[in-house]
Amino acid sequence: MANDGGRASGHRFDPTILREYDVRGTVDKTLFEADARALGRAFAVCIAQAGGKSCAVGRDGRLSSPALERELVQGLSESGIDVVRIGLGPTPMLYFAAYTLGVDAGVMVTGSHNPPDQNGFKLVLQKRSFYGSDIQRLGEIAAKAAFRTGDGKVSDVEVLEKYVERLASDYDGKRPLTVVWDAGNGATGEALVRVTKKVPGKHILLNETIDGRFPAHHPDPTEAKNLEQLQAGVKQHRADLGIAFDGDGDRIGVVDAQGRILWGDQLMTVLAADVIRVQPRATIIADVKASQVLFDEIARVGGTPLMWRTGHSIIKSKMAEIGAPLAGEMSGHIFYADRYYGYDDALYAGIRLIGILGRSASSLADMRDRLPAVVNTPELRFPCEESRKFSVVTEVRDRLKKAGAEMTDIDGVRVRTKDGWWLLRASNTQAVLVARAEGRDDAALDRLKRALAGELAASGVQPPKF
Ligand SMILES: [Zn+2]
Repeated sequence: MANDGGRASGHRFDPTILREYDVRGTVDKTLFEADARALGRAFAVCIAQAGGKSCAVGRDGRLSSPALERELVQGLSESGIDVVRIGLGPTPMLYFAAYTLGVDAGVMVTGSHNPPDQNGFKLVLQKRSFYGSDIQRLGEIAAKAAFRTGDGKVSDVEVLEKYVERLASDYDGKRPLTVVWDAGNGATGEALVRVTKKVPGKHILLNETIDGRFPAHHPDPTEAKNLEQLQAGVKQHRADLGIAFDGDGDRIGVVDAQGRILWGDQLMTVLAADVIRVQPRATIIADVKASQVLFDEIARVGGTPLMWRTGHSIIKSKMAEIGAPLAGEMSGHIFYADRYYGYDDALYAGIRLIGILGRSASSLADMRDRLPAVVNTPELRFPCEESRKFSVVTEVRDRLKKAGAEMTDIDGVRVRTKDGWWLLRASNTQAVLVARAEGRDDAALDRLKRALAGELAASGVQPPKF
């Protein structure tokens, strides 16, 4: 490899690792230690151009994270940026550091919910997500070796205890609950051990030992199979609910006392009602994949629903722009600005959820059962050539527009009929089309699926198996 740390000549990243929302690759195949150093040097230029001079750095529990963190810190400091190392913890702890330590930027070394051999970086600059064209710019700066030199200070700061205290201080339940938590051996483990000691109730912890090999199961709560251990734990302990986290703690998974999964949009109905109670008419944001039930429910309890584009960085930016107190995605990213900072923190969402349930006469299962019954598909992802994925969606949109369909095209096309709705959008990160449909009953869902399949066929795409 021609990776030389980007000192004399330009540094080229593997083009696949500079993604829409983060930098991510397979360690020693597409992502190398030299990339971490070059990333530090390139990001230092962006920090300085924004008038900043300091950066917090954290890391998750992957086996490759210490070495990547070391090189990243080297790249930042040799470019004149003061580095505050906060050590091992979840991604929201790094965000917490970026918001409270008086630093100008933050970088988290994490592979999030992905397999153990992957790793990467999430970045924030001046309390805002650094994504899209910002990330492409890192590649351009590195390729030209347009680096700066300097001698930044490196210091270690303990932030975990402050972070955990901040989480626990927003617990507002009255009735102690029995909660099973599954950290999935991810980076939330130690924070979870500490926060559950500070919050009333009986807390049963699963897989709280941080282990970057993820021996119990994959730390991704959006896949039902990764919640089986949590479901069994909830039944065994007759718990009120179960809460799981992804590998770096920015996504949550929840099961009720019967062991049923509440997907991101179902969970949001509960969280949104609580925020709207205190802030009537508040705008609550959810992504285009969310159920119509969520948008209707937000309106029913007196809030203002806003459907927005999918992507945690995009949602965070929109939230800051309009001052929304709460936002959430199907994927389990939940963003609280109400009493908090507006970034996605699954531990914080978990504490707020048990606070809500600890003040309510109803159980989570009751709340779930009160929602109108609909039938929907999961998120369907199917391959489509990179060069075609956006044009297919545009063709479908144009045909529907001509036909006078009721639709929104904020992110792909989401079509509403008397049966329900269906969504078709292009993934920002893969050569994939994403679809979802939801109907008021099985027959309605079938008609929606047929309409979607018909549109795909008209653009020469093989429809997925629903
Ligand atoms: Zn994550």
